[in-house]
Amino acid sequence: MNPTTDPAAVLTTLIRCPSVTPAEGGALAALETFLAPLGFHVDRPVFSEPGTPDIENLYARISGNGPHLMFAGHTDVVPVGDEASWRHPPFGAEVSNGFIYGRGAVDMKGGIACFVAAVARYIERNGLPKGSVSLLITGDEEGPAVNGTAKLLDWAAKMGETWDAAVVGEPTNPGALGDMIKIGRRGSVSGTIVVTGKQGHAAYPHLADNPVRGIVTLVEALMHPAFDAGTADFQPTNLEVTSIDVGNAATNVIPAKATASFNVRFNDTWTAETIQAEIHNRLDRASTRAILRPDREEPIRFEIEWRDRPSQVFLTCDETLIGVLSKSVEAVTGRMPELSTSGGTSDARFIKDYCPVVEFGLVGQTMHMVDECVSIEDLEMLTRIYERFLADWFETA
Ligand SMILES: [Zn+2]
Repeated sequence: MNPTTDPAAVLTTLIRCPSVTPAEGGALAALETFLAPLGFHVDRPVFSEPGTPDIENLYARISGNGPHLMFAGHTDVVPVGDEASWRHPPFGAEVSNGFIYGRGAVDMKGGIACFVAAVARYIERNGLPKGSVSLLITGDEEGPAVNGTAKLLDWAAKMGETWDAAVVGEPTNPGALGDMIKIGRRGSVSGTIVVTGKQGHAAYPHLADNPVRGIVTLVEALMHPAFDAGTADFQPTNLEVTSIDVGNAATNVIPAKATASFNVRFNDTWTAETIQAEIHNRLDRASTRAILRPDREEPIRFEIEWRDRPSQVFLTCDETLIGVLSKSVEAVTGRMPELSTSGGTSDARFIKDYCPVVEFGLVGQTMHMVDECVSIEDLEMLTRIYERFLADWFETA
């Protein structure tokens, strides 16, 4: 058998490349050796930006005439953590009881291996597809994500590449293969509120302005009332205060400054701009009627600092893409997958600006954990799902 048609063999090679972000670790080079013999044209552009490590990426395309399908993912992996607590070495790809062990087994070298095997089988059976297939693979998803998918898309688009649909191979299934396709993601914005008071003696509060009183008032205004009740496609918008910091060790001193950080995951009721405006309004309203010292009402002096690069919410409505993938999942697993917008952000947030994008991959239960692993049976099933999807999508699109 051609080893490229065997997802377990491809995955074994990929796991043995220690590609912890930002290291390429040999993973993209290995991927090129699988793809080039199938007829793919492979580019491996390196992107740089001051203050972040240079990152190698891969774009591979095989061309026929007709629609263009992109498969997207990442070969970088998160650190192994305490290596001594792994029962199987994290870059060993050991097989035990039908499972392959190693960092990236499900997130997401496994998904890439299945896609490579699916394309190889498709070509073996049918020859070139009735269209183009490309793999857009970054080495910077688990890190800062600055020199990764966003720049790779921009780079490819400038060369004239356009796509009709994309599948991201992240592990989207919570419990078993066939559970869930992601058809969108909530947006995300983060910020920090800084309240300035006036330092003083804790026994003489009428001579000071306690910023802790202010930060408590503002944080309360952020958390209540609820932003919305959720929409047809998304769960309710949620704000979590992630830290409140004063840094004052003295019990007899009123501090001069207090800060609070928060993260909002917002649904399609909002955009990053409108949710930021709503937060500003809440803080402005709450800040006017505050009490920073006993018996005196005065506005809270605060500033808000937004973190760079908010993620916009998106929802994919391409019925062909969603329908063909759902039917492929059902045909192989016997189960109709739930269409979901749950969870955190992914690189699909960049791809959605170029073409409709959905996400479907392996089972996420062990991702980022010690002894990350994937069942060989799941690898085989996902390969069959992707192969069927390739055939049916080119037939329908
Ligand atoms: Zn991932």
